[in-house]
Amino acid sequence: MQGVGFRPYVYNLARRHGLAGFVLNSPRGVFIEVEGAAKTVEAFVTALPSEAPPLVRIAEIRRTAIPVLGDSAFSIHESDAAGSAFALVPPDICVCDACVADTRDPANRRYDYPFTNCTNCGPRYSIILDVPYDRTMTTMAEFAMCEDCLREYRDPENRRFHAQPNACPVCGPRLILVEPGQPAHEPQTSHAILQRVGDILRDGGIVAWKGLGGYQLACDARQPAAVEELRRRKHRSEKPFAIMVADAEVAESLCFVSPEEHAALFSRERPIVLLRRRPDADLAEAVSPGNPATGVMLPCTPMHDLLFRILRERWDADPALIMTSGNISEEPIVIDNAEAEQRLAGIADAFVHHNRRIHTRVDDSVIRIVSGQAMPIRRARGYAPQPVWLGRGESEVLACGAQQKNTLCLTRAGFAIPSQHLGDLENFETLTFFEETLERMSRLFHVTPTAVAYDLHPGYLSTQFALRLPNLRRIGVQHHHAHIASCMAEHQLDGRVIGVAWDGTGFGTDSTIWGGEFLAADYIAFDRYARLRPVLLAGGDSGVREPWRVARSYLLDTFGSIPSDPRWAAMAAPDRLRVVDTMLQRRVNTIPTSSAGRLFDAVASLIGLRHTVSFEGQAAIMLEAAASSYSAVSATPYDFTFTGSGPIDVDLRPMIRQIVADVDASQLQPRIAARFHSTLVAVIAAVCGHMRDELQLSRVCLSGGCFQNAILLEGSIKTLRADGFDVFSHREVPANDGGISLGQAAIACEQLRNEVRNQI
Ligand SMILES: [Zn+2]
Ligand SMILES: [Zn+2]
Repeated sequence: MQGVGFRPYVYNLARRHGLAGFVLNSPRGVFIEVEGAAKTVEAFVTALPSEAPPLVRIAEIRRTAIPVLGDSAFSIHESDAAGSAFALVPPDICVCDACVADTRDPANRRYDYPFTNCTNCGPRYSIILDVPYDRTMTTMAEFAMCEDCLREYRDPENRRFHAQPNACPVCGPRLILVEPGQPAHEPQTSHAILQRVGDILRDGGIVAWKGLGGYQLACDARQPAAVEELRRRKHRSEKPFAIMVADAEVAESLCFVSPEEHAALFSRERPIVLLRRRPDADLAEAVSPGNPATGVMLPCTPMHDLLFRILRERWDADPALIMTSGNISEEPIVIDNAEAEQRLAGIADAFVHHNRRIHTRVDDSVIRIVSGQAMPIRRARGYAPQPVWLGRGESEVLACGAQQKNTLCLTRAGFAIPSQHLGDLENFETLTFFEETLERMSRLFHVTPTAVAYDLHPGYLSTQFALRLPNLRRIGVQHHHAHIASCMAEHQLDGRVIGVAWDGTGFGTDSTIWGGEFLAADYIAFDRYARLRPVLLAGGDSGVREPWRVARSYLLDTFGSIPSDPRWAAMAAPDRLRVVDTMLQRRVNTIPTSSAGRLFDAVASLIGLRHTVSFEGQAAIMLEAAASSYSAVSATPYDFTFTGSGPIDVDLRPMIRQIVADVDASQLQPRIAARFHSTLVAVIAAVCGHMRDELQLSRVCLSGGCFQNAILLEGSIKTLRADGFDVFSHREVPANDGGISLGQAAIACEQLRNEVRNQI
């Protein structure tokens, strides 16, 4: 790992132990040579991992004895660029407390300086052009250090010793304010620029500013008109916006914050943390309409910190700002000054640029705390490109991921390196971002793939991309098998496990849509032991935006015809209902699906919570919210049965009947939603029980987007553990399709390893 202050740490540790030798950043990792008494060398090696600075991650220590050279001093050697290069690249890290203190101290030469950093903090992945990680290989190469900065950079005792992005107001990057339609500003101090930004925000304006990994759009989250205007301009109707606040006190005034959530807010990755909003929170309704959670993050750079300081001096209320990705709807986040002014022209009233180039776009990360543990939802800034240790051979593999929430993954030397979140591969811009990331990561990690792993869905752009690559061994991986393998890879599980893969959509080996799967799986193969009983999905993809379609399908499947109650007539316009009913009855333009995601949609529509949605998963989020507002400790599950074999069908028609009866009896939505969640947990427990009895498996991996639902995840974990299962869920990569590429990579590596083994 480079750029995390490891060499100065080793230097100081060796000197403290009175050892001679040197430390060197080599492309294969850090190389340390020490010379001294055997006992002292032993103490040094023991201390090496245990006292390491916060950003250091030591994957492995290998030792070799060499002849005594008679060195008397310890030194840091320049980087050695020779050899077959492979070094891990650190992620971008939020500003550290010491640097914040520097920028807040009027006597410090970095007072108010937005680009302050040190070996413990600041940009890394977003500014690195190539390895070995040195200033010349970053976008900071354009700035020559002044004498003061150079002195710090060369002083092993200094916090900025070998801090590659080291900078100060004299020699480093600076802010540039542009207000379209206004005369060009003279160069201004950061303070003056951010004061002006504060005024624009206070007057309800929208500001685009260049953050760590890309542009962010900001407006005052307490002004309804400003937030609604941002939604209108960004073409984003209901998907929640994240907010940024100055500190934990403000976060707690708006949301409930547990100790684990508090720690996550302050973690050096500085992700957006999904928190439950207080009913009386002083935030515009349009921040996260109809959603009890709000994504909150704290300032992650000195620039954000400085802005909040200025706002606090000048505003009456503590500022809460929308802080959302600078892009148009689902396109990649914008990183370039000119690109920002062009693409965000219709959105932002002002632009805060700076002249440090962002080389790699990295969006803000999103996590949720479930059962006291961080669960990634979007893995990007602060986390990428941290590797996952696979320990599965030396194969170099490219895994292309899925279509939604795409990430790619490369493997090398036993590591899997998942990319940052790239987005939905639905437009040209995101596909370009995918190709750009592949090219850059291949260079950075010196990976030359010999095999490519891809999803079986022929319509995915990632699959089509994989199949266009020449001369590579092709390994197609079933979507839900990849989900389970990603969870196994995180926990380094070998052998066969019970895999519960529940999500919205995945292409099955029988060319139907899967998504409520119980697999007996290892890395090589899987058996589809059980599934949710398939229903017909009418009209393909539009089914995702219109939960009422799948609700009608469940009604038809359960009752043989759609009941004539006026309630069911109100789900959509009469002519559309007729068209969909006819499609379902005649099985025209329909496809069978076992999707658990669609089951959530159906139930949300059946109980009148939501008939159409503006983003995938919205109905499920609302169902979870309704269930969590149910006050009773536990809700009685509805009934279900099992039918068929190979695979077994989980037949939920009894539950649908009971839900309809509950709706007829005017039962409240929260109670029905809570009982629905209890039913799903009971289904999972029952099927896993059967699988244990029949297959002698007792480890369960829970994966797929449905397990972002805290009630489902916590309920399943608790029930299964109480029944003696070992249960694994996601901590490193998302349970949703963002985690697929890791699973594909693990499967491909194991298959290649297996082939070699069979040849021997
Ligand atoms: Zn720092
Ligand atoms: Zn300087």
